[in-house]
Amino acid sequence: MTTVRTRFAPSPTGFIHLGNIRSALYPWAYARATGGVFILRIEDTDLDRSTQASVDVILEGMSWLGMQPDEGPFYQMQRIERYREVLAQLQQTGQVYPCYMSLEELDALREKQTQAKEKPRYDGTWRPEPGKELPPIPSGVKPVLRFKNPTSGMVSWDDKVKGLIQISNEELDDLVIARPDGTPTYNFCVVVDDIDMKITHVIRGDDHVNNTPRQINIFKALGVEPPVYAHLPTVLNEAGEKMSKRNGAKAVTQYRDEGYLADAMVNYLARLGWSHGDDEIFSREQFLQWFNLDHLGKSAAQFDDAKLRWVNAQHMKTMDDQRLSLLVKEFLDRDGLKTDDRLMPICGLFKDRCDTLVALANWARCFYSDIEVPNEEREKHVVTGVLDALGLLSSKLAHLDAASWTKESIALVLKEVLAETSLKMPQLAMPVRVLLMGTPQTPSLDAVIALFDSKTVIERLKVAKN
Ligand code: GLU
Repeated sequence: MTTVRTRFAPSPTGFIHLGNIRSALYPWAYARATGGVFILRIEDTDLDRSTQASVDVILEGMSWLGMQPDEGPFYQMQRIERYREVLAQLQQTGQVYPCYMSLEELDALREKQTQAKEKPRYDGTWRPEPGKELPPIPSGVKPVLRFKNPTSGMVSWDDKVKGLIQISNEELDDLVIARPDGTPTYNFCVVVDDIDMKITHVIRGDDHVNNTPRQINIFKALGVEPPVYAHLPTVLNEAGEKMSKRNGAKAVTQYRDEGYLADAMVNYLARLGWSHGDDEIFSREQFLQWFNLDHLGKSAAQFDDAKLRWVNAQHMKTMDDQRLSLLVKEFLDRDGLKTDDRLMPICGLFKDRCDTLVALANWARCFYSDIEVPNEEREKHVVTGVLDALGLLSSKLAHLDAASWTKESIALVLKEVLAETSLKMPQLAMPVRVLLMGTPQTPSLDAVIALFDSKTVIERLKVAKN
């Protein structure tokens, strides 16, 4: 059996967003699921729009998501000589021809066809045919090279997403495959690359469906069997528009910076156009075990921020505390905060109430830096009637020695304070939470206090009297 070889072929124009990276996820997953090879090819021939910054986001995003290519990145700009070589081959076999039609003539032709309600297309003026006399070659005009598309018959392929697609060759005109300066055009480069890289499965966005019959014809002209195609439906944004940077799509690396887990992202993206029964939450390993091209969705998927957060929260909940704390530490390190071995239990205690690493880091921050107590919380909870109880708690906690600074002993101290002051637990717990963490909503108070050192607790409780 031939080895599966897939590729992701982004154009580095603008920062890749979730819609784009999903077009990397499936070819990557298919290669991994079948023991195949995943190739990265950067399609950077649009010199005006391609940027290094955009290449960097592609590479960083893929490495963050753990979608490293087995081969590449290959850059099309470094392969220009190869394209010229194959072009020469097509010229030799008479499958391309020079066309001297000027832009003005092309415009006039388009105008005429549009007025006659015909589809604008090149009319074959310069296409050599037996017995046909070509117009005289205008002087000083450099020709483009056009591909001699078959004039009859059908191009068809069995798309793994869309099913059988058939296009009549009469619908296709002769594509320009080299510009007047000899540089090859997009559809031609893609085919040469897919041939040279021995791609077996082209899995890409369905904005390329229209290119596919043209590409298949070029494959055939070069005597190579075209690959299997799977054209993925578009990803829409929350407003139902095609996701794009212009309408606010974020660069994929921004999700890393906002505290999403790579595995959660892979899980979420996987479901944007593929399914495994009703499974919503799965690990990377499960995904790779399950993935095949038979369950790709046919309709456009819509991005849903709340769902992404939910998926991330589920992954955070089940993630090992140690691994989680290492990721949270990176956020705290960035702010110059020195952490210690409490960070792991802190993550364990707070992770259930967080949907991003940033949210978890914000909780952890209370243990490693000063906090701001919002005035409205202070006024609401740290009321005159609890000040004595807070003082009592503080002095009792001060008497606990280091060995007794445990959740259990702290729970006993809290009970004693309640007994001695006749307050109810919430009356005491709310102000303590507000003073320690700036909010009345925290996990169980004894567990929270136990993770602070006694000095900080006493300091923060003292503020109550001011
Ligand atoms: N470079 C193209 C794009 O970014 C993809 C081409 C392909 O996958 O064949 O849309």
